[in-house]
Amino acid sequence: MQDGRTQEYITQAEQDLLHTYNRYPIVFERGEGVYLYDQKGKKYLDFFSGIAVNALGYHYKDFDEALKGQIDKLLHISNYFYNEPAVLAAGKLKKAAGLDRVFFTNSGAEAVEGALKAARKYAYTRDGHTDHEIIAMNHSFHGRTMGALSVTGNPHYREAFEPLVGKIRFADMNHFESVLEQVSEKTCAVLFETVQGEGGIYPAEKEFMERIRALCEERDILLILDEIQCGMGRTGEMFAWQHYGVKPDIMACAKAIGGGVPVGAFLMTERVAEKSLGAGDHGTTYGGNPFACCAVSKMLDLFEENDIIGHVREVAPYLEKRLDELAAAFDCVKARRGLGLMQGLECNVPVGGIISRCLEKGLVLINAGSNILRFVPPLVITQENVDEMTEILWEALQSAVL
Ligand SMILES: *Cc1c(COP(=O)(O)O)cnc(C)c1O
Repeated sequence: MQDGRTQEYITQAEQDLLHTYNRYPIVFERGEGVYLYDQKGKKYLDFFSGIAVNALGYHYKDFDEALKGQIDKLLHISNYFYNEPAVLAAGKLKKAAGLDRVFFTNSGAEAVEGALKAARKYAYTRDGHTDHEIIAMNHSFHGRTMGALSVTGNPHYREAFEPLVGKIRFADMNHFESVLEQVSEKTCAVLFETVQGEGGIYPAEKEFMERIRALCEERDILLILDEIQCGMGRTGEMFAWQHYGVKPDIMACAKAIGGGVPVGAFLMTERVAEKSLGAGDHGTTYGGNPFACCAVSKMLDLFEENDIIGHVREVAPYLEKRLDELAAAFDCVKARRGLGLMQGLECNVPVGGIISRCLEKGLVLINAGSNILRFVPPLVITQENVDEMTEILWEALQSAVL
């Protein structure tokens, strides 16, 4: 039962907000560590992180202090001028990625848009004409704006909004031949998520990555990796492609890079940048603003100071072990897959009911597709948190079976 105040908020929200989401009936009010509290003061363990955003959990003191400090100095200035946090953030992001140039955006979708524009401009400069094609993957997710939607391999998301950006071809993730079939003289880029997120937690296979990289070298095709969900330490490397020894020409990131402050970025090598977006080709009012960049800069500092990636490498195998136990114990769980603290349990039933039962028991989980439970906790979770999660999920699965 909802108490009066919560029900009032929900009713009001449903009147005022466009109904683009079927939300769970909870109004969250604050967070502390890896726990969330709703309006009624009920405590929840968070294995969701606001969709893989809150990498350091909630109310992380040093992070909050840095943001407060920036609020007192300067929030926004536009890209007509320079600002210090943007320079600091760009330098640290470049170093973490081993890439050469950064453009800051306000969201993941915009980072993908920018990456697509950068690839097309590169091919245009090289060839002196337009009409280039981009290969994206089935079951991919790259965002909801028209450009990002054009490369999102889910016809259900695209259908009502066509025509979208043209000259996009789709292939199958981890199926090199299917990519090869789509390659033509006009191909300028291949785009995929290093670990597919919304599509059901499918990590790229090493051989696929290597063969795509070789293909790109051979044909001067740009490899664009979407690290928006899997990047920023989640898989146990700063960026998931660093597991494979395969480097993208262009990378999109967002979600956790701002630790909850809305910010994204796309990065590229100098080789691409030289032939790509120049003065007047791309822009944004907010992108790279001092507040957002202070968040990025501080996140990267805190990752280093607290060895967040080392922690992920330590705790992720334990999460895998506990999830494997669940998979072995319940017939309704078919398989576990994932990389680091980005895991999925594929079930043979829709998982909506399981998620609702977890929420009732004080655990925030989310799905990826209708049948897959997704685990994208704050990167600072401990083994005890993993045990706590497992216990709740165990009970929820048990009552699903009954
Ligand atoms: C979330 C996500 C996006 C879109 O990011 P927004 O900030 O919602 O625009 C793009 N790609 C991937 C892989 C994502 O997970």
